[in-house]
Amino acid sequence: MIYEDPYLLKSCIVAENRKNRPAVDELVHTCPFCPGHESDIEKVWLEVKQENNFLIKIVNNKYPICGYNHELYGVHDVVIDTPRHLQLPKDFSNSHWTILLDTMQKRWMQIAQDPKIEFIQIFKNSGKNAGASIRHSHWQIVALSQIPYQMAQQYSHYNRFYDQMQNCYICHKLEEIDKSDIILENDKWIAIAPTSSEFAHETWLVPKLHRKHYGELEPQELEKAGALLKTLLTAYEHLKENVSFNICFMSGGLHNALDYHFYIKIIPRLTHWAGFELATHCYINTIHPKTHVQLMRSILKE
Ligand SMILES: [Zn+2]
Ligand SMILES: [Zn+2]
Repeated sequence: MIYEDPYLLKSCIVAENRKNRPAVDELVHTCPFCPGHESDIEKVWLEVKQENNFLIKIVNNKYPICGYNHELYGVHDVVIDTPRHLQLPKDFSNSHWTILLDTMQKRWMQIAQDPKIEFIQIFKNSGKNAGASIRHSHWQIVALSQIPYQMAQQYSHYNRFYDQMQNCYICHKLEEIDKSDIILENDKWIAIAPTSSEFAHETWLVPKLHRKHYGELEPQELEKAGALLKTLLTAYEHLKENVSFNICFMSGGLHNALDYHFYIKIIPRLTHWAGFELATHCYINTIHPKTHVQLMRSILKE
């Protein structure tokens, strides 16, 4: 279960099995995600093959934080997004990105069929500073029967805005956006640096049309998101070589009346949370979001 304290506004999941996870770095021969190590994988949910290899494989997480027979009901998958141990997502081709986003959406749809599941979180940890224990590129999908407390709070605040303004909060923000907050855009997505960014060089990739969650994105939107993610990750690499980063798909809940506007948050991990952030959950951003926009624009121009 998720332990919540509604008075101190805190929540946590206890998962002692996670401490047994192996830390795999340079060791290709022991990497459980490399081809040839299929015996390490308990269950393959979806697989996209290419020639003699796989391209993308969605499997059971061996050290899950939840499960069907677990104290916390849910699903915890790993998405292995390349067969190559050291390949980084910025180097995936555009079609590789499209297949990846499409395959994760297919798995999302499968999981969402379960009426007990209320919430699905897709995220990527890349690099040690972003919390990755295995170097081989991968994503995780965590689906839960309970909405994490802070997300439930966010949905309800979001809904309150809708009741007052008869408009979605993010759609409203996009209508009023200052051009100086836009990093780049195409006909489906806009990449921005919101003033409330918590981390230095944080970027949000937001669909221009209102989409509640990942499952509502159309094939063309997935394709165009992949191209922008590739561009943004390449730009980050110019900002700092081998930078650790997280990507979070910020999605609405599944079976409640609350609305939300899906977006993708990209956070390069250049700074650590320190005492003030740990105490207050108020983050100190050392780069003004407008400075981030200017820097990214100048990198993208080159
Ligand atoms: Zn590997
Ligand atoms: Zn919206």
